[in-house]
Amino acid sequence: MPTVAFHTLGCKVNFYDTEAIWRRFQDAGYQQVDFETEADVYVINTCTVTNTGDKKSRQMIRRAVRTNPNAVVAVTGCYAQMAPDAIAAIAGVDLVVGNDRKTKIVDLVADVQREQNPMESMPLSNKPVGDTLTAQKSVGNILKTREFEEMDVPYFEDRTRANLKIQDGCNNFCTFCIIPYARGLIRSRTPEKVVAQAQKLAKAGYREIILTGIHTGGYGADLNGYRLSHLLQDLEQIDELYRIRISSIEASEIDDMLIDVLGRSTKVCRHLHIPLQAGHNQVLRKMNRHYTVEDYAAKIRKLREALPELAVTSDVIVGFPGETDAYFDDTEQLIKDLGFSQLHVFPYSPRKGTPAAKFTDQVSNAVKEARTERLIALSETLVVDYATTWLGRSVEVIPEEPYHLPDAPERRGEGPMGRPGFWLMGHTDTYLKVAFRVPEGVEPEKIMGEVCKVRLTDVSGSFQYGEFESQITVAEDLQLDGNTPAAGESFAGTPSFQADAG
Ligand code: SF4
Repeated sequence: MPTVAFHTLGCKVNFYDTEAIWRRFQDAGYQQVDFETEADVYVINTCTVTNTGDKKSRQMIRRAVRTNPNAVVAVTGCYAQMAPDAIAAIAGVDLVVGNDRKTKIVDLVADVQREQNPMESMPLSNKPVGDTLTAQKSVGNILKTREFEEMDVPYFEDRTRANLKIQDGCNNFCTFCIIPYARGLIRSRTPEKVVAQAQKLAKAGYREIILTGIHTGGYGADLNGYRLSHLLQDLEQIDELYRIRISSIEASEIDDMLIDVLGRSTKVCRHLHIPLQAGHNQVLRKMNRHYTVEDYAAKIRKLREALPELAVTSDVIVGFPGETDAYFDDTEQLIKDLGFSQLHVFPYSPRKGTPAAKFTDQVSNAVKEARTERLIALSETLVVDYATTWLGRSVEVIPEEPYHLPDAPERRGEGPMGRPGFWLMGHTDTYLKVAFRVPEGVEPEKIMGEVCKVRLTDVSGSFQYGEFESQITVAEDLQLDGNTPAAGESFAGTPSFQADAG
């Protein structure tokens, strides 16, 4: 059986795309093997969001070539889209494939194999070491692509929460971001395909699906009036589905209809990730963000009126060109006022090829570091403040993996601060990360990926702790269609339950 190995860099969308590519190889009779071992084909799904993404992508390409110089090495993803010639020039690379033709990789690999080895059947066995043949490129102008590349991912190899890609591309062109050039403009997956995919995932046992995309909240911008709020209403009708999470949404995309849908929904998570990026209008304008500080704050207020317990997390870029001490202080104050439940803080890093990289008023690294530290400390306080509002209350958690102390991965499943027993961790719909002890008589495998009621007993920084109360969903409810494994049960890579229970 021919073998294929994957390495994925970057965001959730890239991981989703890799799963889709793998399904195609699987249908063509391939077996997946570890990236570190010898394979007949390597697929490296690259990232270019930062200069470091490019560098890491090149390292992984070279590693694949070193591991098996006879293999077909195929490179795709955002770095491949942006720099096909540079990648094709790396010795040992056979194929460079653009971001809008990932589902064609299997056929393109077969073409390369036929061309390099016309007398041999798959897999390639006699490719000259060092590969002197020129790499083939299948990379077009992605800004002209208008169709979503349909890709079926009915289940995942190692996840208890399922991502569902609903769109690709972005129309925003923030001045710090290279992504629209690497991913193209917004292409939405048709509502019928999204609903059909969600139905498959729900039937496969996933209790939560995460709507994912490059610019998820922009879903429907190319669909004649059908927007994210319509999609949420349609997804809500899927009986087996318990939770629907929106991975991210821009403040400018939150309208009254969406707030109404969220307010009435029993399935959409009470958690929204709404990137703020900066808390001063001058900086927002320079970033080409499509809202003001006042717009953003008004949206949060409206959302909270409809959903008083809503958790709002956000991204902030620190040290964007022209960010003065006073502007930064305003950002910090706004963050405090808005009461986020967590922040992701990114020190600004100039990305070659973007307008902001050429701005002359860059901020020094020392200042960026000091500001980053201040916001990380603030985020830690915000997490605790939000979690404390749930202390003593019952919450619903979907266990994702055995809990382990951050500094002791070898003690998987052992409780916090030496507490005995087998512990699992998962998220609430409000995105609190909760660890709890599996009680006597309950098998961890049986509750992995299922909705459990847990009473929150301790608030402790990024992790919260609770006591298991009851199991709400059970895997036996599922009607699987034969060859689809139930989530959390028998996928390759499912966490093992070796630690002593009890
Ligand atoms: S919204 Fe801005 S930051 Fe997000 S992908 Fe589009 S251009 Fe990049």
